[in-house]
Amino acid sequence: MRSDAQSPPAGAARGADFTTFRLGGPVRRLDDCASPAELREALRAAHAEGARWQVIGGGSNLLIADDGWDGVVVRYRRPELELDGAGDEWIVNGACDLDTLALAAVEEGMEGLLFATGIPGTVGGAVAGNAGAFGRQMSDVVLSADLFHPIRGARRVSAAELGFAYRRSALKETRDAVERVRLRLVPGDRARLRAERERILAWRRRRHPDWRVIPTAGSFFRNIEPTSAAGRRQAAGWFLDQAGARNFRVGGAAVYEKHANIIVRASEDCTAEDVVALSRRMAWAVRERFGLVLRREVQFLGDFQEIDGEAPARN
Ligand SMILES: Cc1cc2nc3c(=O)[nH]c(=O)nc-3n(C[C@H](O)[C@H](O)[C@H](O)COP(=O)(O)OP(=O)(O)OC[C@H]3O[C@@H](n4cnc5c(N)ncnc54)[C@H](O)[C@@H]3O)c2cc1C
Repeated sequence: MRSDAQSPPAGAARGADFTTFRLGGPVRRLDDCASPAELREALRAAHAEGARWQVIGGGSNLLIADDGWDGVVVRYRRPELELDGAGDEWIVNGACDLDTLALAAVEEGMEGLLFATGIPGTVGGAVAGNAGAFGRQMSDVVLSADLFHPIRGARRVSAAELGFAYRRSALKETRDAVERVRLRLVPGDRARLRAERERILAWRRRRHPDWRVIPTAGSFFRNIEPTSAAGRRQAAGWFLDQAGARNFRVGGAAVYEKHANIIVRASEDCTAEDVVALSRRMAWAVRERFGLVLRREVQFLGDFQEIDGEAPARN
């Protein structure tokens, strides 16, 4: 295992240190690992000491409770790309940065990962949540994944066994860690791919906060399911906008001015509970106006006072 010079000493790491929301209290330990061997060692150690554990990547879809979480956070992340394979089949370490992989595909003139342009986090995190944009998602390119679980051990599963659905996979239940992923790409025109990438990055800059500067976890709610009263999948942001959520603020948490489905940490004194209270207010506004129930996309770790569907406290 590699100890991260940026991390606080063992036992003192806080959610604020490893999530893009930069919120949340202490965890028992933050273990950094960058290779499958280190990942296995960290998970086996957490299991052997009887601790609760959670694998994370970039922490870009996570909210940690203000009181923290009494468990071991195993952060599987590495700055450099680690790629094997050739031609249209690529094997990538799950700890790698997703956007760096998307850029590499463009530079190799390979098509299939443009949708991932600018999505923060790791390849493993993107597989676990079936990350996507513009109607494309990880399930469109994943062939198989190498998984590890401290009790069940290592196994290779096909894309079908990963149980992909809209912004989810079976990994949410099985809690296997994604060590490596095998992807299928197709040859494309490099100049066109480069131009598309620039267009997507510009689109993101116009609509999303730069998470390196403004703490956020991106879209807070899942888009409206086709099976809901709306009849088809529709952007949660549209309903939130219509319900007037853009002006909402609770404590230090605010709705991002350019995107009604994004919550940002608007001041230093913002708490995770502010975020939750604001999200309840947003969900309630959509429920009152449209009769639709919003489901959150952001993952929670720790204890929150949130009660689904409850009327929000007014600030
Ligand atoms: C500004 C901004 C824009 C965003 N835009 C998009 C978008 O367009 N589309 C989209 O889908 N998402 C988007 N997101 C959300 C987020 O970036 C994605 O969900 C991303 O895939 C999460 O990856 P991560 O590594 O940060 O996961 P984390 O937040 O670290 O973890 C999220 C979940 O994945 C699991 N996980 C992480 N790594 C592994 C692993 N190796 N093995 C098994 N499970 C793992 C965790 O246990 C947890 O349940 C955005 C976020 C931000 C801040």
